[in-house]
Amino acid sequence: HLNINKKSSKIITYKKYVIIFMYKMTSKKELEDMDYKDLANLIFPDVKPISYYEEKYSKRDLPEGAIVTRFAPSPTGFVHVGGLMQCVINRQLTNQTKGVFLLRIEDTDQKREIEDGVAQIVNAIKDFGIEFDEGMLNETEEKGKYGPYKQSVRGEIYRAYAKWLIEQGRAYPCFATPEELEEMRKKQEAAKLRTGYYGVWATYRNLSVEEAAEKIKAGTPYIVRFKSMGREDRKIRHHDVIKGNIDFPENDQDIVIIKADGLPTYHFAHAVDDHLMRVTHVIRSDEWVSSLPLHLELFKTLEFETPKYCHYAPILKEEDGKKRKISKRKDPEAAVSYYHEEGIPAASVCEYLMNIGNSSFEMWRKNNPNAPMSDFQFDISKMSVSGAIFDLVKLLDVSKNVISKYSKEDIYNEVLEWAKRYDKELEELLQDKEYALKIFGIERGNAKPRKDISKWSEVKDTISYMYDDKFLNDTSEFEYGKISDKEEIKKILVAYLAKYFNIGDDKQTWFDKMKDLSEELGYAREVKEFKQNPEKWPGHVGDISTVLRVSLTGRMQTPDLYEIMQVLGKESVEKRITKITER
Ligand code: GLU
Repeated sequence: HLNINKKSSKIITYKKYVIIFMYKMTSKKELEDMDYKDLANLIFPDVKPISYYEEKYSKRDLPEGAIVTRFAPSPTGFVHVGGLMQCVINRQLTNQTKGVFLLRIEDTDQKREIEDGVAQIVNAIKDFGIEFDEGMLNETEEKGKYGPYKQSVRGEIYRAYAKWLIEQGRAYPCFATPEELEEMRKKQEAAKLRTGYYGVWATYRNLSVEEAAEKIKAGTPYIVRFKSMGREDRKIRHHDVIKGNIDFPENDQDIVIIKADGLPTYHFAHAVDDHLMRVTHVIRSDEWVSSLPLHLELFKTLEFETPKYCHYAPILKEEDGKKRKISKRKDPEAAVSYYHEEGIPAASVCEYLMNIGNSSFEMWRKNNPNAPMSDFQFDISKMSVSGAIFDLVKLLDVSKNVISKYSKEDIYNEVLEWAKRYDKELEELLQDKEYALKIFGIERGNAKPRKDISKWSEVKDTISYMYDDKFLNDTSEFEYGKISDKEEIKKILVAYLAKYFNIGDDKQTWFDKMKDLSEELGYAREVKEFKQNPEKWPGHVGDISTVLRVSLTGRMQTPDLYEIMQVLGKESVEKRITKITER
């Protein structure tokens, strides 16, 4: 316990008992004229001066208006959809302003850590096409000049700033035991007072330097606290970029800045890091807004320039007419892994999150249907203050639009990637790439592309009927439309195959032949005609087409039937029809 400075420890190992006595004798004299500087040296003898770090992490040379911001998760491996939204927005803003987006890992609470947690976060975000300019790449590697980007390896930096605060008389060692703190809390609760370490309750803030040094030298365990100069009865006003002006009482809590394990607390670490990493904008969820008075006092006391704070409201979910935060426990869509498992393309998710971030995005998209999302000018100040609603149905709708613009090759590649991970049967179907491309090419690449796919997990169902092996071996009964009599259906199909089917026909000819077939069998050639005199016919050309559609695909709704038949080819069409007519 007395191994505090090297000089005394040498003697101690020589002759223990005598030397302890001598040490106490001499140290008594030393203690009398100690000041904050000596106390700081006693607590942190071996740290560098803060000027070293100030120089090392000098101001960034960036264009005017460049935003430097960060994503600062704990390495739990879990990425919440709100975190992903933050990344989408941060990436957009930093690209827009030629700034920097960095990943800082906040792992000072080592209980919450999981193995591989950093790599999992990096990969989860990368899956959405987002990469960081600086920061951790995995548990041990990083890129960028403003690191280390993992708090647990920045210990000496935090200690340097904590030391400086002690030198200024703005931090002090606190020797309160857990029992003492518990006792204090009980008293505060019983008296219906705010809990915490502040004002008259902050017993150790008034210890003299000598008293503190004596306790340290005697080996009493301690932590380091910030000495707040705030008063609860005084108000401060802060301008948040999203929330506007907010009035708070000043902070008066003497929070812990360095814990017993030598690591900093989040509040202290984030201030030092945001300053040294030269962060200009702290964009984070508004659960942190109540900590702002403390953060502002920390920045001011540390003589750091305060970054712009942008606190966004959490994403909400509407349930039974009530709004609540999307919850990790209740909602599978809270985890970004959900979108991957479901096969909702990253581009769709990002586009939807941009939508939630700035409501003007929707209009912009309408006016610029084919522009890349990166062309949109994101305005951080226009983010919702009350919290935007996350609506899965809307997301899937956005996704249908996004996918409708994919080329057939892009669809093929993404679906295959997804299938490899989640659906072996689909992967199998996609082995014949040429055929799959034909299927994905149906009603695609034209002015009005198909919009029936919203996620990759739907693809198997939307294409399986295109495969003879699957289709012809399926024995389930089809549901037909208006014409449902089995004999009538057979009659229609027999006539079609015998007189009208020719795979080489162009679309117009094919359609004219459907009309001819209708007429021959006593149905109306034109839908319009039928509507004027519905009692005259048993049905119209549309009903006849439906018979063919259901017979060939097993379903009432499909993309363009002519194109489907072209992809199926002559043999498959004939097999499908005769399977019904010859039954
Ligand atoms: N580590 C904090 C969190 O995960 C970061 C908060 C901040 O962005 O300042 O919530």
